Amino acid sequence: MAKIAMKTPLVEMDGDEMTRILWKMIKEELLLPYIDLKTEYYDLGLKHRNETNDQVTIDSAEATKKYGVAVKCATITPNAARMTEYDLKEMWKSPNGTIRAALDGTVFRAPIVVKGIEPCVRNWEKPITLARHAYGDVYKNTEIKVNGPGKAELVFTAEDGTETRELIHDFTGAGIIQGIHNTDKSITSFARACFNYALDTKQDLWFATKDTISKKYDHNFKDIFQDIYEKEYDEKFKATGIEYFYTLIDDAVARVMKAKGGFIWACKNYDGDVMSDMVSSAFGSLAMMTSVLVSPSGVYEYEAAHGTVQRHYYKHLKGEETSTNSVATIFAWTGALRKRGELDELPELGAFADKLEKATIDTIESGRMTKDLALITSLKDVIVLNSENFIKEIRKTFETL
Ligand code: NAP
Ligand code: MG
Repeated sequence: MAKIAMKTPLVEMDGDEMTRILWKMIKEELLLPYIDLKTEYYDLGLKHRNETNDQVTIDSAEATKKYGVAVKCATITPNAARMTEYDLKEMWKSPNGTIRAALDGTVFRAPIVVKGIEPCVRNWEKPITLARHAYGDVYKNTEIKVNGPGKAELVFTAEDGTETRELIHDFTGAGIIQGIHNTDKSITSFARACFNYALDTKQDLWFATKDTISKKYDHNFKDIFQDIYEKEYDEKFKATGIEYFYTLIDDAVARVMKAKGGFIWACKNYDGDVMSDMVSSAFGSLAMMTSVLVSPSGVYEYEAAHGTVQRHYYKHLKGEETSTNSVATIFAWTGALRKRGELDELPELGAFADKLEKATIDTIESGRMTKDLALITSLKDVIVLNSENFIKEIRKTFETL
């Protein structure tokens, strides 16, 4: 059979450790035999980031802006231990942070749902996609620990020198103070990314804050979302048959637990941090979470939500067998190929992505899976496969579809 041709290259960002091993296997077994794969390759492995003084990360983000679609392997975010392990010149920043800053994007995370891996919440029939605002609030805070009585004030000095002051608290004893901020620009980007993604995936969009208590800060989020929705998206949502819905965060939490799933839940930075871990663990496994960064200008970067699976890599280096789950990384590729196919009007690419996803899910549902899933599945008599054989089994399934 002739291989599927591509028009525009995908930006391919290679990564580190066990996921780098899986990356190669996925390409060789599941992609290259079927697609005349066109990629612009960037090696974001830590060794190469160090050699290029991290320029490769910046270049890969620029290439993503140019071509519109990227697929990324998990990468190491260096810490003190990595400095010695890789003999680094500097503690390079998190590649995801660099890419997110360059694309000004919002991250959407959704679980891959398969029969036999049931969510803890029984009524969740469809995936819940979590959209986390990735700028500001408590993640860019300023704090003071107060040791005794005194007056805390919030002061804003405008460019012309005018001051606006609000009393925070008259302390009679020790305590704590925190200053946080956000910008209309960032909230606006976040809102547009959420509305666009809802249209793109034809799912309702929920957004929640605590605007009843935070009458200016949280209310500003609510107002910006509402304003953009009414001006730019109301008609498109109605035409697509989807809904935008705002509620209080506590009401949202209660409703999410009773919902069937199949919607996008947009969260402020902190809520998104906390709720995405809750939603992903309730759905079963980190290795089954997809992640896509969407910029307000419509640029997409697909990846797995998990890291480089360091513990498995060290076993692999010692020559021991690993059973690392490649599903989220496979879905990063299928997501990127499908989007590329959509943009380039190549329906064969989208059809290939659908078929490879089905082959992956069918393989698991037939009882052939990696160890992490075997530990939590409700299926009986499962076959636990090693990293390589799992990918080979997916290929066998693919060939039968
Ligand atoms: P991790 O790589 O996500 O792995 C944590 C644990 O989760 C693993 O030890 C493994 O548990 C399980 N797990 C995760 N993915 C799995 C998979 N595909 N198959 C089977 N089990 C899986 O997180 P980490 O160990 O905290 O971080 C390792 C490195 O990844 C760090 O250097 C970090 O900076 C980086 N990281 C990168 C990204 C990214 O690029 N997006 C995201 C997060 C972390 P068991 O060991 O119990 O089997
Ligand atoms: Mg977290």
